[in-house]
Amino acid sequence: MIATADTRDDLQDLYRELILDHARHPRHFGKLASTTHTAEGINPLCGDKLRIYLQVGSGDTIDDIAFEGSGCAISMASASLLTETLAGRRVADALLYFEAVTQRLAGKEAPQRAAIDLGKLGALDGVRDYPSRVKCATLAWHALRSAIEERPAPATTE
Ligand code: ZN
Repeated sequence: MIATADTRDDLQDLYRELILDHARHPRHFGKLASTTHTAEGINPLCGDKLRIYLQVGSGDTIDDIAFEGSGCAISMASASLLTETLAGRRVADALLYFEAVTQRLAGKEAPQRAAIDLGKLGALDGVRDYPSRVKCATLAWHALRSAIEERPAPATTE
C-alpha cells in the first residue's frame, strides 16, 4: 500500500481514536487480588500518578497485570495499552517492549534485540510531536520496569 497523505491522516485519526478510547475506558484498571511486583510512577510535570501491579507466575510469565491512578489522557491510555499488550507475556519480553517503546518515543531507533512489532502501541507515535508529553506516555513503562527490577529473590523451598 502506498502511504498517501490521506491514508496517513486516516491512520492518525485511527490512532487518536484508539488513545481516547483507552483513556476513557482504561483496560485492566484497578488492583489485583494478588501481586508479586508493584511500583508507582509519578510525573510531576503533568500531575500524572499511577501504580502498576503484576502477578508473575511460573515460567516468568505475566499472568495478570493491572494499574490504577489518575492523570492526563495520554498517561492513562499508555498504561492501558501497556497492560493490554503485556498480559500473558514473559517478563523478559515486557522489558523488550519497555526498551522499544521508550526508545521510539525518544525518537531513536530501538536496538536490534528490541526490534519488535509494537502493534497498537504505535498509536503513541503521535506523542513524539509534543516533547513535553513524552513523559506522560513513558510513565507507565518506567513504573513497569521499576516493578520488575525491584523483584525480590524468588521464594524457594530448596
Ligand atoms: Zn500527562
